[in-house]
Amino acid sequence: MSHVVQGYNPRTGEPFGEPVAKTPDSEVDRIASAAATAFPAWSVEPAADRAVVLEKVADALDAESDLLVATADGETALGVPRLTTELKRTTNQLRLFAEVLREGSYVEATLDSANPDIIPPRPVLRRVLRPLGTVAVFSASNFPFAFSVAGGDTASALASGCSVVVKAHSAHPSTSRETARVVLDALRDAGAPEGVFGIVYGTESGVALVKHPAVRAVGFTGSTGGGRALFDLAQGRPDPIPFYGELGSVNPTVILPGAATPDIAAGFAASLTMGVGQFCTNPGLVFAPESIVPALGEAVAATSGGAMLNERMCDSYKAGTDALAASDLASVVSSGVRPDEAWAVAPLLFSTSVKVFEENLEKLTEEHFGPAALVVTYSEPSELHSVLAKLPGTLTGTVHAAESDHAEAGAVAEILRHVAGRIIFNAWPTGVAVAWGQHHGGPWPSTTNPLHTSVGATSIRRWIAPVTYQSWPDALLPAELQDANPLGIPRRVDGVLVVD
Ligand code: NAP
Repeated sequence: MSHVVQGYNPRTGEPFGEPVAKTPDSEVDRIASAAATAFPAWSVEPAADRAVVLEKVADALDAESDLLVATADGETALGVPRLTTELKRTTNQLRLFAEVLREGSYVEATLDSANPDIIPPRPVLRRVLRPLGTVAVFSASNFPFAFSVAGGDTASALASGCSVVVKAHSAHPSTSRETARVVLDALRDAGAPEGVFGIVYGTESGVALVKHPAVRAVGFTGSTGGGRALFDLAQGRPDPIPFYGELGSVNPTVILPGAATPDIAAGFAASLTMGVGQFCTNPGLVFAPESIVPALGEAVAATSGGAMLNERMCDSYKAGTDALAASDLASVVSSGVRPDEAWAVAPLLFSTSVKVFEENLEKLTEEHFGPAALVVTYSEPSELHSVLAKLPGTLTGTVHAAESDHAEAGAVAEILRHVAGRIIFNAWPTGVAVAWGQHHGGPWPSTTNPLHTSVGATSIRRWIAPVTYQSWPDALLPAELQDANPLGIPRRVDGVLVVD
């Protein structure tokens, strides 16, 4: 068995960069233990000080943008423009969490005064959310920055006061190593406790991390199979721990009759082929009137594919789409161009009827990660209601509607909200804004926990758990709960939200 993780250039299939040594179990133990040792000091740093540290990490990453982007492009073939934007998104994400820390409502400070005259009598109760401990973060393959070493899970966990150990994705070891170097230097310069952030390499190191007693929660972005295996490992520990996996998603899009005009086709094809379709929010399943299929087909035929992130993904896309094309469940409408690159694929559009789709729901909702979509044709929107309700859990659901469709759009949204975490109107699901109001989650198998999001301000809630202090003297309480509200944060006092 190899003792190194080697990156590859997806455009040529040749090795890229120096191999990185796999982390042996003894070293995983040292890194996880160091993170656990750093945790108490980091968790009690004032939130405003943690905010400054996050901003320094963001600035350091921005300062090394050229090197990081070039390295990531070599290992992922995602292209310099996309990767430059992705790194900016990553640093702005760190800055958003600095804002979240300063605003302070994320700890949900709640103060109840004593009331001996009610049944049951109420003592002084003060509730706040506190960080869990050390978090293991599994980087994603398809976002080498935004969902990787310094990505959303790491940013939100560090913001919460947790320490972090990242499991680097094997598809971009050099990008991971360079990003980790920048993060470690910035944390050190900013005075964060030694060991508060660490990184490990190799599949076995991820297993060791999930099993490690010091690890108190896990964040994961990747496949349903890999996520399920690690979820089961986390739940099978003597002390099961929270596991937040973001897995597969088919992202249904419903084009209602009034919106089924050829104008819609270009937007669809652009969303489908962005990043060679390697987005968890890729619009892989479209419900549309038959009349729009030729326009969608022409738009896809005019697109070009690209090199996929790694050979395994390329092979899996080809095998999945070949099998669908060879089946009698769907027919190929059109194919885009396959560039002459090692792990390149062509965009593909399939179609089937709503009847065949409903009869073969499990097979036809399999995700083909990459630039492939299935159009399910219908005659009347009412034919869709039962089938939409049976869809597997998904990160997004989209409705395209003209004004004449508004009543139907409302009915479809009401069905989709049970299966999707974000419901989009007259836009496309790719592009996940990092914001206070974002929800990037959904029922299984889109995630392992439908209560939480992996993007946006509230993603920090995955790493913080409530504790109530009963009858404690004011001076011994965390600052967030003290009478004088020294941090000036929003709090619920005797049931009333108070914003100082
Ligand atoms: P993956 O194979 O699930 O890998 C993700 C991470 O989990 C990697 O660090 C991998 O380790 C680790 N891992 C996977 N299976 C494991 C196991 N049984 N035991 C221990 N560790 C395990 O995902 P991927 O390579 O990123 O992509 C493969 C597929 O995932 C895609 O084709 C797509 O369907 C899906 N995907 C979904 C999203 C999303 O946003 N929901 C994003 C990307 C990919 P190594 O790196 O060491 O292999």
